[in-house]
Amino acid sequence: MLNDLYRKVVMDHAKYKRNYGKLEDEEVRKVHYKNPTCGDVITLYLKLEGEALTDVSFEGEGCSISMASSSMMTELIQNKDMRTISIIRGEFEKLIKEGKQSNDRVDLGDALSLEGVHKLRARHNCALMAWQALDKALYDVESYKRLI
Ligand SMILES: [Zn+2]
Repeated sequence: MLNDLYRKVVMDHAKYKRNYGKLEDEEVRKVHYKNPTCGDVITLYLKLEGEALTDVSFEGEGCSISMASSSMMTELIQNKDMRTISIIRGEFEKLIKEGKQSNDRVDLGDALSLEGVHKLRARHNCALMAWQALDKALYDVESYKRLI
C-alpha cells in the first residue's frame, strides 16, 4: 500500500490538480481517453513546437490515483523534448509494473509516490491512464515512438 508520506503527495495532486483545464489554440492536440478498468477519464491537451512540448494541460474525472498521476505527468513532461518524455514514460511504466525503475537517474518527481501502486495490480491502469493518453496523442511522433 501507499505509505503515509506518499499518500499525502498523491492526495495533494488529486485535490489540487496541476495544469488543470483546457488549452485553447488551433494547434493544440487534444485526446480523450478512458480507463476501461475503473471508469477514469481524461482529456489531454498538448502544444508541440517541433520536438518540444511547450504546454500541457488536462481535464478529467476518476479515482485519486488516476487524477494524481495525470497531474504529476503534466509536471514531468512540461517543456521537455520528445525523447526525454519517452524515457520518463518508460521509467514510470516500469515503476508501476515492476515496482522499480531501470534507471534511477531519471527523476520521476512526485510520480515516484505512486510506486506502491505496483502491488495493486487492479489499479495499474489508473496510474498509467494519462500516459496511455499521451501515447495516443503522440502516435505519429517518431522520436517519441522509438523508445516506448
Ligand atoms: Zn482509477
